[in-house]
Amino acid sequence: MKKKLLWSGLAICCLMFLAIGGYKLMNAREFQLFGELTAKVETDEKIVALTFDDGPSENVPGILSLLDEYQAKATFFLIGQDIAKYPEMAKAIVDAGHQIGNHSYTHTRMVVKSPAFVKKELSLTDDLIRDAGYEGDIDFRPPFGKKLVVLPWMLNNQKRETIMWNIEPDTYASSVEEKVKYVLDNIEKGSIILLHPMYDDGEELQVMETILKELTEQNYRFVTIDELQKHANEN
Ligand SMILES: [Zn+2]
Repeated sequence: MKKKLLWSGLAICCLMFLAIGGYKLMNAREFQLFGELTAKVETDEKIVALTFDDGPSENVPGILSLLDEYQAKATFFLIGQDIAKYPEMAKAIVDAGHQIGNHSYTHTRMVVKSPAFVKKELSLTDDLIRDAGYEGDIDFRPPFGKKLVVLPWMLNNQKRETIMWNIEPDTYASSVEEKVKYVLDNIEKGSIILLHPMYDDGEELQVMETILKELTEQNYRFVTIDELQKHANEN
């Protein structure tokens, strides 16, 4: 009886370990089981990447003109079903010379999904990105940053990169001032900043504008993920 209890105790501990490990793995910003993942680039140059998740939406013209004002290039991780809704907005992003990445078709957590489901989410969105006129390699960013086994495996098979981030003000701060402060406190050369201005009624655009202004004053330049990676230190 005692032995049985001991074994079931051990089994529960093992399961808990696996669950915690799986949870950590699913959310890890700088590690996945297969393929290349970038959350930040080691560089000696004063460059950083602004990345925007979700959309496109009707906020695109406002976002593009802000970027223009600061001669900034950014990377947009777009959702397939939103491109289908606003194809001309996706085109406008491409025409302005920014980078576009794939952020899935339906923006569902790709954690316990079949390979067929993941494949379809990727290819439907790729097709729409191509229809918008984008010609570069299409990197991927997982919805909610979550990935476990099937997604990284599939991305690796397709030889495409997963792009994460190392600065996410929306998670660690709530007001405009706090978010800006969080970015300024944590910024370093080669940082990848995540913002969500697409479905925002103004605050996130304010955060974006202040970051552009403050970091430009500090002589940082804003470049696409591709450009940032071209300036990575050799190691
Ligand atoms: Zn998202």
